[in-house]
Amino acid sequence: MLRIPCLFVLLLFGIAGAQAAPAQVRTQAPGFYRLMLGADEVTVLSDGTARRPVDEIMSKPEEIRQALAKAHQPLPLELSINCFLINTGAHLILVDTGAGELFGARSGGLLTANLAAAGYRPDQIDAILLTHIHGDHSGGLSIGGKPVFANAVVYVDRRDADFWLGPDAIKTHPALAQTILQSHATLDPYVAAGRLRTFDGETELFPGIRSVPSYGHTPGHTAYRIDSKGETLLLWGDTIHLAEVQFADPAVTIDYDVDRAAATAAREALLERTARDGILVGAAHISFPGLGHVAAAPEGYRWVALPYSAGQ
Ligand SMILES: [Zn+2]
Repeated sequence: MLRIPCLFVLLLFGIAGAQAAPAQVRTQAPGFYRLMLGADEVTVLSDGTARRPVDEIMSKPEEIRQALAKAHQPLPLELSINCFLINTGAHLILVDTGAGELFGARSGGLLTANLAAAGYRPDQIDAILLTHIHGDHSGGLSIGGKPVFANAVVYVDRRDADFWLGPDAIKTHPALAQTILQSHATLDPYVAAGRLRTFDGETELFPGIRSVPSYGHTPGHTAYRIDSKGETLLLWGDTIHLAEVQFADPAVTIDYDVDRAAATAAREALLERTARDGILVGAAHISFPGLGHVAAAPEGYRWVALPYSAGQ
């Protein structure tokens, strides 16, 4: 009597064993990370990553190769592209928009998917603050020439708008023609709709949200300081491209710097200030979610990543 069920069990195991192994999935969980800053809800949104040969596009290549080898990081380096969404209760404000379609498939362009995963729609965003006009920060404003954010006013320091969108931009800076054309492709729909607003240096744009000039990487490169109930977050854009090297040696620059000396001075100033005041930093290209503190170190500074919180 028992022999038949045993046979069944053996058969079942045999069938299960013959099944094909499950295919590898390879995708990540949606890329967003939430924290409260006083009364503000901050959501870091990943736009994905982009691989860059940082040893070829930054100064001090040997120092970079050694530091990355020590950090077990391959070249080209996979750099995060982080954007930041602030829900103040009165406003929904996005700082930077990622690369959109500018870097092609499998490189950036995940912002809107991660925005949806985080529970928001593009048309709910009423303001976009650009740290600067570069493809990986302003590229996500438009896809296929159409604005992604139907109701948002875009804010940028007037120095960047003048430099990248000015009538003589290509004539004056022919080497930057590609970036200038990309700037037009993604910002022009907002200009045409009267939804690009420039500010001039340090300005309180919304209650508790101020621009902090950090010129050099681009002429109008700007950090944004968010204050709520005694807590502070500084979103510093491209102050650091390569955490493994530039904290210890802020003099390392990148080819994308419009003015390398000014970019270095701006980096040193923000490192000094954030280390001294213990301000939480949100960084565009430090490994997602790019949140942490700056600490003084025997040589320059070091990055102290914010520990993970389940938010429970
Ligand atoms: Zn950037």
